[in-house]
Amino acid sequence: MGDLTRPKGDQAAKARQKKFALLRRLEVPEDGLPGSLSLSYRRCGKSYCHCAEGEGHPQWQLTYMERGKKRVEAIPADWVEEVRERVDRARSFREGVGEVFLANAELLGLEKKQRGKKKPNKRT
Ligand SMILES: [Zn+2]
Repeated sequence: MGDLTRPKGDQAAKARQKKFALLRRLEVPEDGLPGSLSLSYRRCGKSYCHCAEGEGHPQWQLTYMERGKKRVEAIPADWVEEVRERVDRARSFREGVGEVFLANAELLGLEKKQRGKKKPNKRT
């Protein structure tokens, strides 16, 4: 670990505690799925179908980005529950990772503040 992650004081201790608590329970969900699940309605194009007049057929889809390109995967209705759970697991993981990095940013800010108070060549 570099020097930049070692600010002192209560706020720093709290940020560090939060970070390590997160790191302890963060586990990559191996079956996690990217993006988000949504429901759309599409017309099948058959003139005799009820959808020609109405809302269209419901279709669940998983939308995600792959290297800057938007991808859409149609999801069978009976898969929706499981896919939703896998999307949620991946989202929680991403949020957790984001929190870790935010805690690091807080520590970086504190370190900067604390260094500012010290004499330039006094290092501990
Ligand atoms: Zn139709």
